[in-house]
Amino acid sequence: MNIAITAHDSKKELMVQFCIAYCGILSRHNLCATGTTGRLVSEATGLNILKYLSGSQGGDQQIAARISCEEIDLLLFFRDPLTSNPTDMDVSHLLRLCDVHNIPVATNIATAEALIHALERGDLDWRDILNDR
Ligand code: PGA
Repeated sequence: MNIAITAHDSKKELMVQFCIAYCGILSRHNLCATGTTGRLVSEATGLNILKYLSGSQGGDQQIAARISCEEIDLLLFFRDPLTSNPTDMDVSHLLRLCDVHNIPVATNIATAEALIHALERGDLDWRDILNDR
């Protein structure tokens, strides 16, 4: 499975902790991330992560492009709902594309936990079969 990871600044530490907790599961998949999130997670976990540009430089849109091409199976995006962000437009674009392409997406840790357990159980394997991976 191809998993994309990103987090707003105030949620990056939470994402790091989440990835430490689920490192074993995540290590069995292909990971990509926006620049800063990817660097922090890979430094903390040793996970191999394809790092795109920083979100502010277009990293969100690089992930969006892969979603458009059906190359992402799961998006973990811890967003800050309390702070207005210059990339808000990119965020809604990203989430819209997840809906267009039926990509499971977690915007908070509670949903991320549910999805990571679903991933571990194989509940999301239909995406691999559908995409012939
Ligand atoms: P970053 O991008 O991981 O490069 O910070 C995400 C964001 O825009 O917050």
